[in-house]
Formats: sequence, C-alpha cells, structure tokens
Amino acid sequence: VARTRPPGHPVVALTIAGSDPSGGAGIQADLKTFAALGGYGCAVLTGLTAQSTTGVTRVLPVPGDVVTAQLETLFADVAVDAVKIGMTTDAVVARAIAAVLRDLRSAGPAPYVVLDPVMVSTSGHRLLEADAEAVLRDELLPLADLVTPNLPEAAVLLGVEPARDATEAADQARALLKLGARLALVKGGHLDSAESVDHLAGPDGVVALAAPRIATRNTHGTGCTLSSACAVVRPLHDGWEPAVRAAKDYLTETLRAADDLVIGGTGTALGP
Ligand code: PLP
Repeated sequence: VARTRPPGHPVVALTIAGSDPSGGAGIQADLKTFAALGGYGCAVLTGLTAQSTTGVTRVLPVPGDVVTAQLETLFADVAVDAVKIGMTTDAVVARAIAAVLRDLRSAGPAPYVVLDPVMVSTSGHRLLEADAEAVLRDELLPLADLVTPNLPEAAVLLGVEPARDATEAADQARALLKLGARLALVKGGHLDSAESVDHLAGPDGVVALAAPRIATRNTHGTGCTLSSACAVVRPLHDGWEPAVRAAKDYLTETLRAADDLVIGGTGTALGP
C-alpha cells in the first residue's frame, strides 16, 4: 500500500530529458506521468527534437554548460525527491549531468535516480550520439538506483547480442548490476511472448514482472512513461520492487486507455 504525503508536500520529481513536441515521449510524457501520479514535476531539457507521432526528423543538443546551469540553479532552490534521466543527447550533456549528480550525492542525502538509457527512437532515429554510449555506461549508470533498458539498450550497454528469451534477459539484468547500477529492470516488450515480462535484478536476485500485452499501435513513449512512473512513485513505497510494480500497473492502464486515442495522421503539410 502506497504512503501518502501531507497536503502541500507532493513528491517532487525531476525529468532530465529531451523534448518531444508531439507529446507522446520525452519530457512531455514525463511531466504528464508525474502529474497523473500526484507528483510535482520539474524538467531540465537536454535537447530538442523535431518529431511527430510517426518519427523524429531532427535532434539539437542543449549546450553542456546550459544543462549544468539548469541543474545547479534548480537544486540550489528545490529539494528534489526523485530524478528520471531520459535522452541525454551527446557525450558533453551526459558528462554534465553526471558531474552535477556526483556533487549532489557528496553534499548529502541525494534523490532517487532512475536512468532510462535512451539511444534510438522506435522509428530508428538516433537520440544519443554513438560516442556517448560509453559515457552513459561508465558515468551515469553507476549513479543510478535503477536503470531501465529495453533489450537493444541492455545489449549495447553490455556489449553483447540482444537477449532472445526470458533466461537471457534475466542474465543481462544481473550483468548490468556489475556495471554499477543498484537495480536493473530489463524490459521484455521486444520479446515475442503472450505477456510482457520484465526482469528486475537487485542485490537479492532477479524477479520476473509480468503484465498483459496490450494490443495497441499507440506505444510511442512507453519507456519514458514507465521510467518516470518508477521515479515519482518510489518515495511512496518501501523499496523498489513495489514501486516498479505500481509503475508497471500504471503503464498497463495508460496503454489500455491509449488505444482509444486518435492523435496524429490528420495534420496539414506545410511548405513546398
Ligand atoms: N523523443 C524523445 C525526446 C525521447 O526521450 C524518446 C524516448 O525515450 C523518444 C523520442 C522515443 O520514443 P519511442 O521510442 O517510444 O518512439
């Protein structure tokens, strides 16, 4: 059972991520998730994308020193309970985030940190430059309480082939802990199975978390939504496992509701 907070003291959740103007992924999805789950949302932008519901056409990184300034200015004023890191865009931005989070950790009690190691959009556009993958693995992953890769992202982080079944996914979740994350949730959405089974590895072993697979074409932004939900509900639960279960239940609900949504495919083409 989730705890509640006194009036006027919602969970303060921060997303450090990129913008998706179409509102399905990125900081837009994160802020909607925080609000839907009763949190107060803050957002530090790492990059802009030009994007519709069908794909990404451009990515522009925010300069590293501007990411640092956003984070330092915010943390100097606001006590953030939980952080979700999404698209980090390039190596300079990823390093800037890691440096501020390290400083924050050495200064006292630090917020919970969920790292969604976003690399490539479902439509196939790079959201993280290739040379930043090592920075994500070596600098950000060791700062994460929970890392939430899908199967292709777990494979890149580990330098192996993507898992082909639940056993391999569980092994990869375990292997991610050796890279420094305290817990790893390897998401099974890409596996061809009747249920969507994620594997959560932590100090006490691996648990399989199953949810019904929802047949909908509106899955854009599911990774963003799940990692944000994990972050914002964590302060209300005793431990990560119940928090991740609650976040997964929320995602299942949103996927069910999303199938009725008709967004996209009805716009106006501009220009020649
Ligand atoms: N755009 C931004 C800014 C994102 O952070 C992400 C995912 O994390 C995406 C797009 C990709 O979303 P999807 O792969 O669900 O289409």
